[in-house]
Amino acid sequence: MQLVFASNNKNKIQEIQQLLPSSIKILSLEDIGCFEDIPETSTTIEGNAILKANYVTKKFGYNCFADDTGLEVEVLNGEPGVYSARYAGEQKNAEDNMNKLLFELNDKSNRNAHFKTVIALNINGEQHLFEGIAKGTITFEKKGVDGFGYDPIFQPQGHSSTFAQISMIEKAKISHRGIATRSLIDFLSKE
Ligand code: IMP
Repeated sequence: MQLVFASNNKNKIQEIQQLLPSSIKILSLEDIGCFEDIPETSTTIEGNAILKANYVTKKFGYNCFADDTGLEVEVLNGEPGVYSARYAGEQKNAEDNMNKLLFELNDKSNRNAHFKTVIALNINGEQHLFEGIAKGTITFEKKGVDGFGYDPIFQPQGHSSTFAQISMIEKAKISHRGIATRSLIDFLSKE
């Protein structure tokens, strides 16, 4: 079976291909000749995952899955959420985003937050959603150099390190994306 992952992130694609049975071949957007920017205009994380998967299925006719992730901070009523990538502006800069979030939480003692990933899968005329949540807190300063995005200021629950201080393998065991991806893989392995 061929399945499009609506992404051009080679690491993400390779990672998931390795975890799937060899009967499922993952194609990237580039592989199917989709070079346009798929609109991510929804106001929810689920909505954007669905928009991306539906775009590929409707326009190119493939079975497809797409993911979307956001960081939801309790005391900010779920912000930055669906706007996590561009929280500090359209330049989508991770340092700027973290600085803005640390500033917003400057005087706040409630630092609870969670990452949420939703994967939307369109397969054989059906749609299935898979969710992964990683709970934790926002630290008062950046710690660690690994990872990306908000990793240096996100400390997962039950850990004393931030996501940027643990290895990619350790992170995948507890992360939002790891959890959602394993649910997708479980489902696909039974297809
Ligand atoms: P995307 O939907 O995977 O592109 O994620 C949207 C934005 O959420 C990214 O640009 C990052 O700012 C943030 N983000 C997503 N996943 C992570 C993560 O695992 N660690 C830190 N930040 C993340």
